[in-house]
Amino acid sequence: MPSRPRAASEIREAFLAFFEKRGHRRVPSASLIPDSDPTLLFTNAGMVPFKRVFLGEETREYSRPTTAQKCMRVSGKHNDLENVGRTPRHHTFFEMLGNFSFGDYFKPEAIEYAWQFVTGVLELPPGRLHVTVFREDDDAFGLWRDRVGLPESRIYRLDEADNFWAMGDTGPCGPCSEIHYDFGPQPHCTNPRCNPACDCGRFLEFWNLVFMQFDRDGAGTLTPLPKPSIDTGAGLERVAMVVQGVQWSYETDLFRPILLRAQELSGCALGGDAEKDVSLRVVADHARAVSFLVGEGVLPSNEGRGYVLRRILRRAARHGVLLGLEEPFLHAVCDSVIDAMGGAYPELVDRRAYITDRVRHEEERFLETLSKGLSLLGEEIRAVKHEVGRAGAVLPGEVAFRLYDTFGFPLDLTEDILRGHGLRVDQEGFDAAMERQRERARAAWKGSGDVAVSQVYATIAMDEPVVFRGYETLRLEARIRALLSGGAPVERARLGDEVEVVTDQTPFYAESGGQVGDQGEIRTATGRIQVTDTQRPVAGLVVHRGRVVAGEIQRDAAAQLVVDAELRQATVRNHSGTHLLHAALRQVLGPQALQKGSLVAPERLRFDFTHDTPLSQEEIERIEDLVNAWIERNAPARIRELPYAKAIEEGAIAIFEEKYGDVVRVISFGDFSTELCGGTHARATGEIGVLKVLSETGIASGVRRIEALTGQGALAYMRAQERALRTIADLLRAPPGELPARIEKLLEERRALEKELERLRAERRGAASGDLLSQVREIGGVKVLAARAEGADPKELRAMVDELRARLASGVVMVAAEGEGRVALAIGVTPDLVGRFRAGELVREVAQVVDGKGGGRADFAQAGGRDPAKLEEAIQKLYTLVEGAA
Ligand SMILES: [Zn+2]
Ligand SMILES: [Zn+2]
Repeated sequence: MPSRPRAASEIREAFLAFFEKRGHRRVPSASLIPDSDPTLLFTNAGMVPFKRVFLGEETREYSRPTTAQKCMRVSGKHNDLENVGRTPRHHTFFEMLGNFSFGDYFKPEAIEYAWQFVTGVLELPPGRLHVTVFREDDDAFGLWRDRVGLPESRIYRLDEADNFWAMGDTGPCGPCSEIHYDFGPQPHCTNPRCNPACDCGRFLEFWNLVFMQFDRDGAGTLTPLPKPSIDTGAGLERVAMVVQGVQWSYETDLFRPILLRAQELSGCALGGDAEKDVSLRVVADHARAVSFLVGEGVLPSNEGRGYVLRRILRRAARHGVLLGLEEPFLHAVCDSVIDAMGGAYPELVDRRAYITDRVRHEEERFLETLSKGLSLLGEEIRAVKHEVGRAGAVLPGEVAFRLYDTFGFPLDLTEDILRGHGLRVDQEGFDAAMERQRERARAAWKGSGDVAVSQVYATIAMDEPVVFRGYETLRLEARIRALLSGGAPVERARLGDEVEVVTDQTPFYAESGGQVGDQGEIRTATGRIQVTDTQRPVAGLVVHRGRVVAGEIQRDAAAQLVVDAELRQATVRNHSGTHLLHAALRQVLGPQALQKGSLVAPERLRFDFTHDTPLSQEEIERIEDLVNAWIERNAPARIRELPYAKAIEEGAIAIFEEKYGDVVRVISFGDFSTELCGGTHARATGEIGVLKVLSETGIASGVRRIEALTGQGALAYMRAQERALRTIADLLRAPPGELPARIEKLLEERRALEKELERLRAERRGAASGDLLSQVREIGGVKVLAARAEGADPKELRAMVDELRARLASGVVMVAAEGEGRVALAIGVTPDLVGRFRAGELVREVAQVVDGKGGGRADFAQAGGRDPAKLEEAIQKLYTLVEGAA
């Protein structure tokens, strides 16, 4: 008998091993980013990855899984995040241990397993265990009393709010039963009937059994499920508290090493100051969440998951400042999270450099905004103080929210600072702004999609999964199982109809993993469908989308399915090319260049990856050279089905945010590329022909995109480039090799010509000005010149006015030009006369004559007008004006 587990890692392993021994399949933790539920921001319970199985929309090859699942809970109740660090067991990231039964065992086994584990393996004293059941669940009550032998005094019947679980308003639901640990009477509890429902902290619920036994319909009626299921959840942090005998989860070994690092970095010891203790705990909790989120490819942003990450990360950074840390430090705490959790989650270790780099980067950005936020707050405080008496000593809620939202200031920080100035925050205004923000956040990630249509798909998919045979063939005979038009099932489709076709098997690849859906034809004895896209709207279902181009199509007909081989082959080249590109990027840039997404279509490929700086031309060429050398080697593809863990052990690259089953498809080319991938691939790298990078751009902070072409596409591209080059060469009558020198020479000549042109223009202006000087009049001792300067643009008018002013030394000058139905005027006054004549005023009056407007300074002004016929009148007007003033 091994000694009882004490460390959290031992508890985790003992749990999984215990259930494995009882016929359960050990399934690796699914991603924190749920792929099965678009309404959910994060996986927040162990059952989430199995939700579709419980709903009957998906089947697995096992009926008893056991998992240790990564979970995140952030939003929800008001100020949820603000509680973290202040309460004994509030967390953002946590782990849920679970054993599940999909219509296999039920209450007796679930209760017995739980009891055996907590008393037999964990060796918890039975006398400290209390259980709760749903008020009406006599079965569970009886099982605890008779089968387990628990005295009735330690079995509590609670009502629906506490002990009834439902997946949603409708669907699977049922009673629960919880196991609580009794830490003993709490000195501060005044409740004479202190029991598991009391919130004094004496009792800790650490194990929850959910008995899914009903289906609830829209009217609220409960119908027993034919095969009831089990979902259990035991928070690892809580189990560790019970086993290690501590009432704060931060005192378990899950948090101790992380807290230790935070204390070392800050020089603040736990237990010294209550507020600093809170900060240390916040940092420890948030560092776990941040490490896992970044490790799963989430990047800080202003919406959806990225927004949650940014809030948590900045909150942690801010608490670092409260601990006296002025430099980025959180990445160092994350490093200790990776040490502590890497054993159970090796992906953290693989991505260590990436995670700490990203966290550091975001910390640096925040520290920059922090001082800006502080100065904004300073200004607002001054403004509020200035208005005291009128608005009262209250900081507008909007301002507090902006500090919170844009600069990452928690409300309590703002309040602290305000308190020192005798001010407070308009809490209602802050809450209102927060609520508006929540609405925006909800809208940002809420999944859309037509529920009715997805139910139609789910119903079809449930019959039996569509068999995909497109790896081995491009054409086959099949039966049309369903025809959909406008999302509704139909019996037949006529010429011209847009339809969706479901068959019992298909060679068409449905869009997934970045590879687009196949195109081709479906032919029956009575008609033909042109397939333009193939999709998999729900697991197990392949839908061919297209239009009836001949005859009509009937449901149940025998059909021949033919994939467009040329397009498929082009897609295959691009997909295998993408794998080589990925491998080459990692070789040239390092392993932190991770795939963020890809698009593989017949005509092109696109690859997004994490990297901070633009690639140099030299790096791009090295990548191209590597890929093309691998293509030349003509390495054959090796395709295997392996257990996930084995594939990862062999170095296969798994992609962020992808979900993988227990058995995965592994594609290898030579010894240079191994990836988990369900796509279609070349038989050997030689089929790719050639790979050419077209462009490399940034698409988001820390994410770059490469677009490339392979095979014929690359050839066509190079030809187009060559053709363009040849056209240029023809135009310049020079061989391509001499083009750069020739173009440089042309540019030089052009610069010389421009200079010459400017010189000639100045000369012409000089001559024209000279001519104009003969028209100067003297009015009351003032030299006045008003004249036309044909063909001059406003810039030239200005130059002419300057020149004439200089030549006159003293006087008032106006030049005007007409063109394209408009008039342009410029008036200048020499410095000695600006006391008597103001150019701005003169131009306004003159411009009125030609139906225009203008203005300017006292010594120079310009105007435009719409009536060239009156230009002569306008010239006379200037003389009149000077005469009037002289
Ligand atoms: Zn109590
Ligand atoms: Zn792939």
